Amino acid sequence: MRPPLRALLLAPPGAGKGTQGERLSEVYGVPHLATGDALRDHVDRQTELGLEAGAYMERGDLVPDRFVLDLVLQVLTDPEPLEGFILDGFPRTLAQAKAAFEWGKANGRTFHAVISLDVPEDELVRRLLDRGRQSGRTDDTEETIRTRLRVYDRDTEPLLDFYRERDILVEVDGTGAVEDVTDRICREVDRLYSA
Ligand code: AMP
Repeated sequence: MRPPLRALLLAPPGAGKGTQGERLSEVYGVPHLATGDALRDHVDRQTELGLEAGAYMERGDLVPDRFVLDLVLQVLTDPEPLEGFILDGFPRTLAQAKAAFEWGKANGRTFHAVISLDVPEDELVRRLLDRGRQSGRTDDTEETIRTRLRVYDRDTEPLLDFYRERDILVEVDGTGAVEDVTDRICREVDRLYSA
C-alpha cells in the first residue's frame, strides 16, 4: 500500500492550483491546504495575523515568511503531523521551501511530488481577470495581477530548480479542459509515487 500522498502545487497565480488541488484531494483522499484561503480567512476574521497580512495581499506582495511559516507548520502539525496533504501556495520562497524540508525530515514527511503547471502568461492574466469579475477577489485586478506574476517569477519560480534537483518535480501542461489537466497530473504523480 502506498502511503498517503504528500504533494505540492507550485505554479503562478491563475494556473489552476485551487481547482486541481480540490480534485487531487478527492483522487488521493488527502486534505487540500491552500495558504491563500487560510490567509483570506484570517483577513475576514480580522485576527492579528489577518490585520498584518491583509496589506501585503492587497498589493499582491508575499506575506513575510515568519507569519506564513507559523500558520502552515501549525496546520501541518496540529494535533499531530499530517500524513498526507496537497499543499497549494506554499512554499513560495526558498526560505519557506527549506523550512518545509526541515519539517518533513524531522517528522518523516518529506514531499513525494511537486507539481508545476505550465500556462502561458496571457492566459493567466485572462483567467485571473475573469475570476476577479466573478468572485470579486480584490487582488484580481490588472495592476495587482502584474505584481503577483512578477513576484512569482522572482521569488517562487526558483523553487522549481530546488525540487528538480531532488528528482520530485513533475511538469504538466496546465492548459485545456480541467479533467485533462487532472489526468496528466495523476499520470505523472503515479509514476513517482508508488509503493
Ligand atoms: P493565493 O490564493 O495562493 O493566490 O494567495 C493569495 C495571496 O496570499 C498571495 O498573493 C500572497 O499575498 C499571500 N500568500 C499565500 N501563500 C503565501 C505564501 N506561501 N507566502 C507568502 N504569501 C502568501
